[in-house]
Amino acid sequence: MSYDFDLFVIGGGSAGTRCARIAAGLGARVGVAEDRHWGGTCVNIGCVPKKLMVMASEYGAAMQDARGFGWDVPAGRHHWADLIAAKDVEINRLQGIYRRMLDGAGAKVFDARAKFIDAHTLDVGGKPVTAERIVIATGGQPIRPEFPGAEHGIVSDDAFDLKELPPHVTLIGGGYIAVEFAGIFAGLGAKVDLIMRQDLPLRGFDQDLRTSLADALTAQGVKLWPGRRIVNVDPDRLAKRVTLDNGTVIDTGLVFAAVGRAPNTGGLNLAGAGVATTAAGAIMVDEQQATSAKNVFAIGDVTDRMNLTPVAIAEGHSLAERLFGHGPRTWRLDAVATAVFSSPPIGTVGLTEEQAAEQGPADIYVSRFTPMRHTLSGRSTRKTMMKLVVDQASQRVVGAHMLGDDAPEIIQGLSIAINLGATKADFDHTVGIHPTAAEEFVTMRTRTRVAEARAAAE
Ligand code: NDP
Repeated sequence: MSYDFDLFVIGGGSAGTRCARIAAGLGARVGVAEDRHWGGTCVNIGCVPKKLMVMASEYGAAMQDARGFGWDVPAGRHHWADLIAAKDVEINRLQGIYRRMLDGAGAKVFDARAKFIDAHTLDVGGKPVTAERIVIATGGQPIRPEFPGAEHGIVSDDAFDLKELPPHVTLIGGGYIAVEFAGIFAGLGAKVDLIMRQDLPLRGFDQDLRTSLADALTAQGVKLWPGRRIVNVDPDRLAKRVTLDNGTVIDTGLVFAAVGRAPNTGGLNLAGAGVATTAAGAIMVDEQQATSAKNVFAIGDVTDRMNLTPVAIAEGHSLAERLFGHGPRTWRLDAVATAVFSSPPIGTVGLTEEQAAEQGPADIYVSRFTPMRHTLSGRSTRKTMMKLVVDQASQRVVGAHMLGDDAPEIIQGLSIAINLGATKADFDHTVGIHPTAAEEFVTMRTRTRVAEARAAAE
């Protein structure tokens, strides 16, 4: 049977765009549908605008710090509307690039919503379209919490187009998004409360990173509410009255929930194609990204595994090459470096101290210091924490963690060494670059402690 397309991709985000572009470049007849914004979450309402806003938020402190270096800098005012307008220009530019890349590769682009009729037939903007293979790359969406008055709050989708900077923001959650936006709003001058149900932010991250981040947020002026939940939000004329589970009342300008994301599968009619999902609604895939329907694949956040843009792109790229090329490019997904763009940021790769200890004794090296810049700036509360986790038996460095200026840039390089299986001796034999913060990773001589699994230690 002949189909309209060899491959049809539903979703023009990071994963879908890469998959469609590579497949089209390999000669496949490709269609791709996107009904909201080309580039998806990362480009439009995620990584890219978020990082621009993080950058904006750091200028205020940088201008103050410049005084310690002899600059006579007046306290400036930030104009939120100007930031949003500048951000929008850049995002529109990127959207255009994403769409043009697909056109340029020879894919047929549909500005339309697609849903399954059967495993080979889609309804694309009201018209039937057939494809031999179909890829679902519809991403995720923010979860909206369910307490009385939650509807008066926003989620990250709404945060990039606020008309003005709220003077007081109350964030819910202790994950990536809550922590990053706490830094953005605080850096731009808002009062920030962060309500998190754990004792520390970023559950699952290395414990030293978590405590260092809590200290950094506090130093930035963010008020942390560990172990707390919101039970009610009451909208007043100007403010919102937030009530916590311990009875505390916070009058705030904006309630912002960042309590995780869910796969975006609504309205796809997955059942019509025989595509199975988990109880949480994620599309189930095997190692080849294949779903329960043999010609249908899923990539990126809609599979809800490692929800990171570069992982989604890797999945899309490998899949296209596997289907239409020879010898797909592969990526190692066991030690994926990731960053949290807090202020200062976090970079992390490999095992946490706690995970390493579960596998056997681990040598732990920790260094904490005030960055050189702040010897003159006077910002003594801005600390750096760097940490190596070394498997004691093999002496392989199995984890590297950092909170401090440029941490994501530094950890990206270290992730290559860790993926290559570098030992602590390999790190020690490497000559540092002076004076940098990064050199600390190759000059940690004295072990801080040995970590062992709690059960074994008891
Ligand atoms: P996360 O999964 O990172 O964190 C969710 C947070 O919300 C956790 O602290 C969780 O607490 C808390 N939470 C969950 N449910 C509730 C509830 N009902 N009431 C109160 N708190 C709750 O989600 P995010 O929304 O921050 O980010 C979504 C995903 O987006 C991330 O997991 C990541 O994959 C991706 N992302 C990546 C970024 C990056 O790479 N820099 C930046 C932003 C997002 P608990 O720990 O107790 O479960």
